[in-house]
Amino acid sequence: MRKGRNGVTMVGQVALVTGASRGIGRAVAEALSREGAAVVVNYRRSAEAALAVAQKIEQAGGAALAVQADVGTVAGCEALMAKAMDQFGRVDILVNNAGDALEKLLVDTSVDEWDRLMAVHMRSAYLLSRLALGSMAERRYGRIITVSSIWGISGASNEVAYSAAKAGQIGFTKALAQEVGPWGITVNAVAPGAIATDMNAGLTGDALAAWLDRTPVGRLGTAAEVAAVVRFLAGPGAGFITGQVISPNGGVVT
Ligand code: NAP
Repeated sequence: MRKGRNGVTMVGQVALVTGASRGIGRAVAEALSREGAAVVVNYRRSAEAALAVAQKIEQAGGAALAVQADVGTVAGCEALMAKAMDQFGRVDILVNNAGDALEKLLVDTSVDEWDRLMAVHMRSAYLLSRLALGSMAERRYGRIITVSSIWGISGASNEVAYSAAKAGQIGFTKALAQEVGPWGITVNAVAPGAIATDMNAGLTGDALAAWLDRTPVGRLGTAAEVAAVVRFLAGPGAGFITGQVISPNGGVVT
């Protein structure tokens, strides 16, 4: 593995990060870029924010491409991968991060809402992994990392659809790791606890206090702390770790 400036480990590699305009995805894109990877910064609606992420990476001397695509759709996933391949010719690191929350009782969850959650979390991971695997297998190297959630491990009341989608990502990870291990491709999940991003903007007041009380380290996590785990799993030193779920959660779920 070639080392780049200051010993960075991903020079010459290309990372595709879904949902990289904000929050955890943005922090992941920036962290992988600091390791020397060229980064595809996917977003759904936040064009200005995604372009700013790409611009910041380029200003720091890296390579980046912002690509609008709804990864909940087949056409969106295909167009996203096609643009990444056109621009950079390869994808070595796929980070399935894009996601949406839904706080509703199961009895109030519509079929459309259920399908939307499954599409953005599960179908996108399936489609993009399938699209990336061919060229990874040819090079006998690849890293697929999916950002799941502690709710995929423990489940959460009022978030059955979200928990099911996040648990599905974990099953997907464990199974795919076994299929593609012989090709030098690792597949892992990162399952964060509550992280200070837009997704948790509604966590305030008594609900926030109760959550912090339940959290051994007594605070929310940061997007950078999740990105550090993804960066480790995406790096060349993590080649013996596959089919695992690593959960930066402040001790809430052990
Ligand atoms: P966030 O701040 O709300 O950002 C969500 C990102 O996903 C945005 O970049 C958004 O793009 C993108 N996105 C949403 N739907 C998309 C779609 N259909 N196609 C393409 N991009 C889409 O969320 P976050 O907190 O960073 O969460 C990132 C991931 O971590 C999610 O999978 C989430 O479930 C998981 N997670 C988060 C937490 C937490 O506490 N925050 C905890 C556990 C797991 P636009 O900006 O264009 O809308």
